[in-house]
Amino acid sequence: MERSTGGVVWWGETGEFIQVNNTHCDGCGDCLRVCLGGCFALREGKAVVINLESCMECAACWYACEKGAVLYGLPKGGTGFATEYG
Ligand code: SF4
Ligand code: SF4
Repeated sequence: MERSTGGVVWWGETGEFIQVNNTHCDGCGDCLRVCLGGCFALREGKAVVINLESCMECAACWYACEKGAVLYGLPKGGTGFATEYG
Protein backbone atom coordinates (compact mmCIF):
# COMPACT_ATOMS: atom_id res chain seq x y z
CA MET A 1 0.00 0.00 0.00
CA GLU A 2 1.38 3.43 -0.95
CA ARG A 3 1.41 6.26 1.60
CA SER A 4 2.51 9.87 1.15
CA THR A 5 3.37 12.58 3.66
CA GLY A 6 5.61 15.67 3.69
CA GLY A 7 7.00 15.09 0.21
CA VAL A 8 7.91 11.48 0.95
CA VAL A 9 6.16 8.44 -0.48
CA TRP A 10 6.43 5.05 1.22
CA TRP A 11 5.50 1.72 -0.27
CA GLY A 12 4.30 -0.74 2.29
CA GLU A 13 4.84 -4.48 2.34
CA THR A 14 8.53 -4.20 1.59
CA GLY A 15 9.42 -7.14 3.81
CA GLU A 16 11.22 -7.44 7.14
CA PHE A 17 14.39 -5.82 5.86
CA ILE A 18 15.54 -4.84 9.36
CA GLN A 19 15.61 -7.40 12.14
CA VAL A 20 17.14 -7.72 15.59
CA ASN A 21 19.31 -10.65 16.59
CA ASN A 22 18.03 -11.41 20.09
CA THR A 23 21.14 -13.33 21.01
CA HIS A 24 23.37 -10.26 20.54
CA CYS A 25 20.95 -7.54 21.71
CA ASP A 26 21.60 -6.38 25.28
CA GLY A 27 18.62 -4.02 25.42
CA CYS A 28 20.70 -0.82 25.59
CA GLY A 29 18.03 1.08 23.64
CA ASP A 30 20.43 2.96 21.35
CA CYS A 31 18.51 1.89 18.24
CA LEU A 32 15.32 3.39 19.70
CA ARG A 33 17.07 6.67 20.47
CA VAL A 34 18.51 7.17 16.98
CA CYS A 35 15.52 5.96 14.98
CA LEU A 36 13.47 8.88 13.72
CA GLY A 37 10.88 6.51 12.33
CA GLY A 38 9.90 5.01 15.67
CA CYS A 39 10.58 1.58 14.25
CA PHE A 40 11.83 -0.10 17.45
CA ALA A 41 10.51 -0.89 20.90
CA LEU A 42 11.97 -2.67 23.91
CA ARG A 43 10.19 -5.79 25.06
CA GLU A 44 11.44 -7.94 27.89
CA GLY A 45 14.87 -6.31 27.71
CA LYS A 46 15.36 -6.78 23.97
CA ALA A 47 14.79 -4.51 20.99
CA VAL A 48 12.10 -5.52 18.55
CA VAL A 49 11.12 -4.02 15.20
CA ILE A 50 7.56 -2.76 15.46
CA ASN A 51 6.98 -0.63 12.38
CA LEU A 52 9.04 -0.58 9.21
CA GLU A 53 6.46 1.37 7.24
CA SER A 54 7.94 4.59 8.68
CA CYS A 55 11.56 3.52 8.13
CA MET A 56 13.63 6.04 6.16
CA GLU A 57 16.44 3.56 5.45
CA CYS A 58 18.97 5.86 7.10
CA ALA A 59 20.83 2.91 8.67
CA ALA A 60 21.33 4.88 11.91
CA CYS A 61 20.17 1.83 13.86
CA TRP A 62 22.79 -0.34 12.18
CA TYR A 63 25.54 2.20 12.92
CA ALA A 64 24.38 2.77 16.49
CA CYS A 65 24.24 -0.85 17.57
CA GLU A 66 27.64 -1.68 19.01
CA LYS A 67 26.58 -5.29 19.55
CA GLY A 68 26.00 -5.91 15.86
CA ALA A 69 22.47 -7.00 16.68
CA VAL A 70 20.69 -4.95 14.02
CA LEU A 71 20.48 -6.93 10.81
CA TYR A 72 20.08 -4.42 8.04
CA GLY A 73 18.97 -5.42 4.57
CA LEU A 74 17.26 -3.86 1.60
CA PRO A 75 13.51 -3.73 1.13
CA LYS A 76 11.88 -6.02 -1.39
CA GLY A 77 11.76 -4.29 -4.74
CA GLY A 78 14.77 -2.08 -4.08
CA THR A 79 13.45 0.80 -2.00
CA GLY A 80 10.67 1.49 0.44
CA PHE A 81 10.39 5.24 -0.02
CA ALA A 82 11.18 8.16 -2.34
CA THR A 83 11.45 11.87 -1.70
CA GLU A 84 9.92 14.61 -3.79
CA TYR A 85 13.39 15.80 -4.88
CA GLY A 86 14.90 12.40 -5.69
S1 SF4 B 1 21.19 -0.86 19.82
FE1 SF4 B 1 21.53 -3.06 19.46
S2 SF4 B 1 21.96 -3.91 21.48
FE2 SF4 B 1 21.00 -1.89 21.81
S3 SF4 B 1 18.80 -2.32 22.04
FE3 SF4 B 1 19.18 -1.87 19.86
S4 SF4 B 1 19.53 -3.89 18.88
FE4 SF4 B 1 19.76 -4.15 21.10
S1 SF4 C 1 17.07 2.66 9.05
FE1 SF4 C 1 16.71 4.57 10.19
S2 SF4 C 1 14.49 4.89 10.17
FE2 SF4 C 1 14.89 2.74 9.57
S3 SF4 C 1 14.76 1.55 11.46
FE3 SF4 C 1 16.91 2.12 11.22
S4 SF4 C 1 17.18 4.08 12.32
FE4 SF4 C 1 14.97 3.73 12.02
